[in-house]
Amino acid sequence: MNGETVRVVWDDALTSYDFGPGHPLAPVRVELTMALAEELGVLDEVEMAGCAPATDDELALVHTRDYIEAVKRVSATGRPEPAYGLGTDDNPAFAGVHQASALITGATLAAARAVWTGEAGHAVNVAGGLHHAMAAAASGFCVYNDPAVAIAWLLERGASRVAYVDVDVHHGDGVQARFYDDPRVLTISLHESPRTLFPGTGFPGEHGAQGTAVNVALPAGCGDGGWLRAFHAVVPPLLREFAPEVLLTQHGCDSHALDPLANLMLSLDGQRAAYAALHELAHETARGRWIVTGGGGYELVRVVPRAWTHLIAEVSGHPLDPATPTPPEWRRLVAERTGETAPLTLTDGRNPEFHDFSSGYDPADSIDRAIMATRKAIFPFHGLDPLP
Ligand SMILES: [Zn+2]
Ligand SMILES: [Zn+2]
Repeated sequence: MNGETVRVVWDDALTSYDFGPGHPLAPVRVELTMALAEELGVLDEVEMAGCAPATDDELALVHTRDYIEAVKRVSATGRPEPAYGLGTDDNPAFAGVHQASALITGATLAAARAVWTGEAGHAVNVAGGLHHAMAAAASGFCVYNDPAVAIAWLLERGASRVAYVDVDVHHGDGVQARFYDDPRVLTISLHESPRTLFPGTGFPGEHGAQGTAVNVALPAGCGDGGWLRAFHAVVPPLLREFAPEVLLTQHGCDSHALDPLANLMLSLDGQRAAYAALHELAHETARGRWIVTGGGGYELVRVVPRAWTHLIAEVSGHPLDPATPTPPEWRRLVAERTGETAPLTLTDGRNPEFHDFSSGYDPADSIDRAIMATRKAIFPFHGLDPLP
């Protein structure tokens, strides 16, 4: 997997996506991520590139013209547009919101363009992954749905099969909604059960007309072993069968035990194992065409920067040793920017082992029941056997 061109799209202005003090999605999380990746030399292994804001026509691949106009009004005045989900507690109105959001979508489009044209094998936008935004409304801290716009752009360019895998702790509802009955797009979301977490959708029965919307609704507290068991029971067989031309993955790291908004209880080691598995699958099933975004993640100091530094390192083909100490310069930056104490090493020091589902399932186990519910709902559409 070495020797390929890997592009990281970045512009300091991506940190202008800022809902204000006290909001969980604070841009310092991507600032600290890029600083950690730089200090550790991770960015020396990739090609850095800038980006331009998405145009209105590009945004309109997913969003209504009325909504785009509403976001622009908020942007100019800072005044709420509650009918469009802007000016709520989750999505506060702020001046400049259109420019900041269009730049994030532009960065994911730049990544998609690089991969589609072959300029890069893999491309990353850690500021992207705003998967909750709907056609005509902001939702769940997301204004424009950059992964959905990138997928729609790929289809417009002639892609006939695009796969989307979303490992954020929340359901990737906006992306699912845009392509729900479209057999050209396979969306797979692994998330905490909608019974206990926003947005309240993402049940296995939401499978679209042809089984191309896939939902794995995991019980709270499932941890690395349960999560990885579910991932491997569902994602590889479906990607192999679907054989996408391009794979786009969303890497919300709010599945971590320290995340203040959710309860799946993964460690950085488990998340890192998921990144490595997706990297392998990108090569095995999508000829290495891989577009990577960030996503949610609200433990701004101890989780997001380390998770996504590992992510970039994995994508670059030079994964970092889990025992690597965090650089002193970065620890100083953390203290200065947040007043918090930085973590000392790059992971939680766990061994993310799991038992493969192929060895049989236990109907008394809540994770196995979640896996079977998804396999029963989806696998027959694809000629696969739901039983292990
Ligand atoms: Zn690779
Ligand atoms: Zn999330």
